[in-house]
Amino acid sequence: MGMTLFDSPSFANHEAIHTAFDEKTGLRAIIAVHSTARGPAVGGTRMWSYASSAEALEDVLRLSKGMSYKNAVADLEMGGGKSVIIGDSKTQKTAELFQAFGRAVAQLGGMYYAAEDVGVSVADIAEARKVTPYVLGLNDGAEASGDPSPVTAEGVFRSTLAVARRLFNQDDLTGLTVSVQGIGHVGGYLADKLHKAGAKLVMTDVNTVLLEEVAARTSAEIVAPDAIYDVKADIYAPCALGATLNRQTLDRLTVKAVVGAANNQLATPDIGQALFERGVLYAPDYVVNGGGIINVASELKARETGGAYDPAWVEAKLSRLMETLQEVLDRSAAEKRPTHEIADAIAEARIDAAKAQKARAA
Ligand code: NAD
Repeated sequence: MGMTLFDSPSFANHEAIHTAFDEKTGLRAIIAVHSTARGPAVGGTRMWSYASSAEALEDVLRLSKGMSYKNAVADLEMGGGKSVIIGDSKTQKTAELFQAFGRAVAQLGGMYYAAEDVGVSVADIAEARKVTPYVLGLNDGAEASGDPSPVTAEGVFRSTLAVARRLFNQDDLTGLTVSVQGIGHVGGYLADKLHKAGAKLVMTDVNTVLLEEVAARTSAEIVAPDAIYDVKADIYAPCALGATLNRQTLDRLTVKAVVGAANNQLATPDIGQALFERGVLYAPDYVVNGGGIINVASELKARETGGAYDPAWVEAKLSRLMETLQEVLDRSAAEKRPTHEIADAIAEARIDAAKAQKARAA
């Protein structure tokens, strides 16, 4: 590919890029700090078998910018960052590797906080914790926020209710069909809530054992993984993979709205435009699924104040996020612009305001 850092199409005025190589453990990591305008950069650590360092760099640049937006839209006093470890998470994980990674995080002196992401578990982050305080999303300690999935699911559920109110003018989901793709950590909790609110569920997952269990308790119809796009549903809830909104699926989906937990649902931004033109209400993924990062942020908050995990703080932030979702939907309708563009504009305005405030203070 031959691209270098500042020429990369994904470079977006990132504040810092930190690379780490450790001879003993073979660690090859890149930490990208996109912005600290709103606070320390927070974002997960991904372990992936990247084909090249250029590919790893692209990913970390793109994902760290995404975290600035997600954290700003959730109105958290945090900037955006992300880190990648190049390697196979199934065969190349060791405790020493994550300690070496922790030392790399420590070198940034609190400019960046790591957390779990694809290929990285809470246990791995706990290894890094042995050498640095700058990690979040732990299971032990008074401030530990634990599994974010229930909070994420609650946010997706409330977003679904908000959309149903808008499109179908009803306060619950009675009579509506929701197609759910992926009933893992978030999708499982979400399915229970949707079922309780009266929705008829059609669901899929590649884990058939789990699928049958969740379908049984939520009276859901099961379909094959690829058939989920053809389901005659009112709302599609992607809760498995990214990029499921693409040119191929666009012509198959007959839903009126998309509200799900998955990250990066739009394969490309023009798909957001296409959904808008077709009158499909797309609730922006990083607004809808912000409950997870809110839960993680509570750990930083508790640490800063010397307090314990505070569910009331999490609830207040989640309510505020749902107000922001309403703002996104209102403005999208009023300005006749796709929802993902409005969400980005809100995030950018908040980041710019923090930057301006910092500049004035300096
Ligand atoms: P998970 O791994 O627990 O669940 C994902 C589920 O999708 C699994 O059950 C898996 O078998 C299934 N799946 C995989 N490929 C599939 C396919 N092709 N078709 C159908 N099902 C398939 O993950 P999760 O924590 O529930 O997260 C789900 C999504 O939400 C991910 O995109 C994640 O990035 C995003 N997300 C999660 C959180 C959180 O709090 N866990 C927060 C924000 C965003």
